[in-house]
Amino acid sequence: MNQAQIGTEIIIVDDNQFQLKLLSHQLSMVGYKCVTAFDDGQTALDHMADRFLDSTVVILDVNMPNMNGLEFLQQLSKNQFSGSLLFVSDENEEVLHLAEALASSGDLQVLGQLRKPVQQEQLQKYLNDLCSSKENLLNPAKKHSYTAEQLKQAIENGELSNVYQPKVLLDTGALVGVEALVRWQHPQDGEVFPDKFIDLAEENDLIDDIARQVLRNALKDSQIWKKSGMDISVAVNISMYNLNTRQFIRYLENELLSSGMNPQNLILELTETKLVKDYSLVLDMLTRLRLRRVNLSIDDFGTGQSSLMQLRDIPFNELKIDKGFVHSACNDEGLHGVLDGSLQLAKNLGIKTVAEGVEDEADWSFLGNSGCDLAQGYFIGKPMKAEELAGWRGQWMTRYEKISVAAQAEN
Ligand code: C2E
Ligand code: CA
Ligand code: CA
Repeated sequence: MNQAQIGTEIIIVDDNQFQLKLLSHQLSMVGYKCVTAFDDGQTALDHMADRFLDSTVVILDVNMPNMNGLEFLQQLSKNQFSGSLLFVSDENEEVLHLAEALASSGDLQVLGQLRKPVQQEQLQKYLNDLCSSKENLLNPAKKHSYTAEQLKQAIENGELSNVYQPKVLLDTGALVGVEALVRWQHPQDGEVFPDKFIDLAEENDLIDDIARQVLRNALKDSQIWKKSGMDISVAVNISMYNLNTRQFIRYLENELLSSGMNPQNLILELTETKLVKDYSLVLDMLTRLRLRRVNLSIDDFGTGQSSLMQLRDIPFNELKIDKGFVHSACNDEGLHGVLDGSLQLAKNLGIKTVAEGVEDEADWSFLGNSGCDLAQGYFIGKPMKAEELAGWRGQWMTRYEKISVAAQAEN
């Protein structure tokens, strides 16, 4: 199963029960397991309300009796639907043209049209195309690549800044911390995501400069939150390259001291992406930090990037389960197995667990019964600017109450 198949939710809206069953089966045959089918538009819209839909594909029959396909499209554009659409129709060309026109005037992304009866190969082709088109749509700057000199200039010009993604307790919804994620505000390309420049920084000796800026901003923002009554932890991502010498850790210790921040509120997230030059130096620095009560988190657990060996040697006290095993785990026994195994392992070692990539209510409620401690993901909150956090918290607590009441009513 590839990443697109794991991460994509498909919603089928078609008044014909037989078509719904047939399409669900065809999707399952091409590897898409997270499929929800509706025989009327309104129920589908209710299902989609309040959800994060960037990775959703709606397969829509444009000719339906009750709420017809065109009305459904108007609603989607009113709700600023951010996923993609595939139209299904019989011979009625006119309705299809209308649907295309409506979608394009309403800023909706259309992958293509399917004729009934739907051919499996064609269905597969459109869904395969989705992965690359989605990447470009979400992150246009990804199309470009940058030089080390451009990145160096950007760091010097202060074009890098932090955004923060909330981490909440699964059993009370309370905000307990955030993860700092770096962004490059490129003067021409707009927001550039870290997967476009972290490798470049690692290969060109710029990763320490980035880590220092991210850390300094994170400490500064965390002190501001504290003053406003939010005493929460902040996690920063550390590359193994930052641990090749003692320089970055010395810098970190000094900054921590002068910021006056409680070291227990700082978390370092580590992934073993590249070979470590001097393993004993890394162990020495991390153990020292742990003795000073700085927290160490093993990131992307389960991907193979983060290994069990690290878990044995390094005094981690938090384990982050990679998003690939979290989103849609409720619909997939393989993912469910990895998730449960990781949680059990962490429990045996007595360390806290965080599930990342919680994208929808199904992920959230599934995790609620799993024994996992914390959750992070688009369903709870997308990465945001430091000053947006307080406002987000208010909205989230209201939403959390609603979700809890609805869940209790169901039980
Ligand atoms: P990560 O540490 O695994 O960070 C989580 C990534 O998942 C973030 O992407 C976040 O925006 C994204 N994410 C959050 N919730 C969801 C969700 O519900 N679904 C999905 N599909 N994704 C979600 P981002 O910000 O693009 O960062 C990508 C990676 O870049 C990070 O992965 C981290 O490894 C690296 N990175 C980010 N900031 C820094 C940094 O300051 N230093 C270093 N060395 N690496 C960084
Ligand atoms: Ca991380
Ligand atoms: Ca991660």
